[in-house]
Amino acid sequence: MSSITCYGGVGEIGGNKVLVEDSGTRIFLDFGQSFTHLDDYFVEYLQPRLRFGLRDYFALDLMPKLKGLYNSWAVDKTDIDHCGPQYHAVFLSHPHYDHIAHIRYLDQRIPIYMGETARTILRSVNDTGRAQWFYEKDGVARDGSVIPANDVRIFRTGESIDTGSIEVLPVHVDHSVPGAYGFVVNTGSGAVAYTGDIRRHGNRPEMTRDFIDRAKQAGPKVLVVEGTRVAPEEKRKDFSEAEVHEKGKEIVESNGFVMAMRYPKDLDRFRTFYQIAKETGRKLVISLKTAHMLQALREDKALALPQPFEDSSLEVYKREMKVYKVWEVPMLDKCVDYKWVKQNQDSIIWEQDFYTLTELIDVKPGKGACIHSMSEPFEEDPMSQLQDEILQNWLGRFGIGHHQLHASGHASMDEIFEIVEEIGADKVVPVHTQHPELFTMENAVKTEAGKPIEV
Ligand SMILES: [Zn+2]
Repeated sequence: MSSITCYGGVGEIGGNKVLVEDSGTRIFLDFGQSFTHLDDYFVEYLQPRLRFGLRDYFALDLMPKLKGLYNSWAVDKTDIDHCGPQYHAVFLSHPHYDHIAHIRYLDQRIPIYMGETARTILRSVNDTGRAQWFYEKDGVARDGSVIPANDVRIFRTGESIDTGSIEVLPVHVDHSVPGAYGFVVNTGSGAVAYTGDIRRHGNRPEMTRDFIDRAKQAGPKVLVVEGTRVAPEEKRKDFSEAEVHEKGKEIVESNGFVMAMRYPKDLDRFRTFYQIAKETGRKLVISLKTAHMLQALREDKALALPQPFEDSSLEVYKREMKVYKVWEVPMLDKCVDYKWVKQNQDSIIWEQDFYTLTELIDVKPGKGACIHSMSEPFEEDPMSQLQDEILQNWLGRFGIGHHQLHASGHASMDEIFEIVEEIGADKVVPVHTQHPELFTMENAVKTEAGKPIEV
């Protein structure tokens, strides 16, 4: 008998951890962090005590307390024993934190599978960010203790990976980060399909179509489906990527100074702004972090991303700092600075980040447009409301108009229900949604965290 158990993503957006068990083989699909539950207990400097590994997470039910899953660093200061691994693999659908963030706690002998592009993106983030998302060599925790290296493995779409009695077929999907997959998982009792995060209004709807076809062909017993946008009413404006292009271009054409904000790993949006810059005879000015990621993805032929310092429509911006990071140094003499941006402010699109808004003080635009190409603030999240207020203050101060223009990474409620109907599984398990109750189809299963569902 086979079963699936959701240890996260139940009644919440993100935190997916789906255990599939079959005749003694146990694999996880995704291993992300629940932001909703973490935010119930922690804010600003009130944070879990990392020196105690997972002790605080277990005490507050923020992580499943399972034996044979975590590394010794994670459990030595808790009341579960560290023993040999009793789980056989973890498959990551895509490199967003709510699907991957807890892999660093896994027993290092458990293989972690991901797409090659996902690995490259995470390597770049590991190099340039503050946190380390996985370790390819032994790492050192803040308290000086050693975090063992992970066993990271790569898959491609359509490949079959056998782990014990379970076979996993990753199939590419379109989402707001490249290297995103859904899975068709074959067990002794039948197939389980898992969407990961999925959409049909991006630039590559045919990839999502491939997943739906493969899932349908498998005649799945269970479909584990995301429902981010399944809600009583859709309050946010959402556009397709093509509409973001078209409307973004209009904004650029009718303004002098233009700044643009997007999620760092959303490379479709990067490409959209890059195209708009080319079509309007402007240069897209990117950050050092974006330049690092583009260089890391240079060999990715499918993505075919333009390269900084080679492409005449790209410039890389360096902030004036006392000390630069080691990875930044090789790029510095080819970068532009605030004086250049100030001089050329009407012939660029300047990618900016919330945390570097202070650069506006040196550039002093006076008027112009900010294309906010990210989600609107979440009503239920006071931090995102506050950030929005602060952003508006900055823009107001410099006479910059705010333009909300975003294409979500997720399919709409209607599209999700169409996908569910088309795949036609015996049981439907909604995850990654705040409204599982809106999955009213007869075969929808009321999911509870930690409670097995028979396949
Ligand atoms: Zn995602």
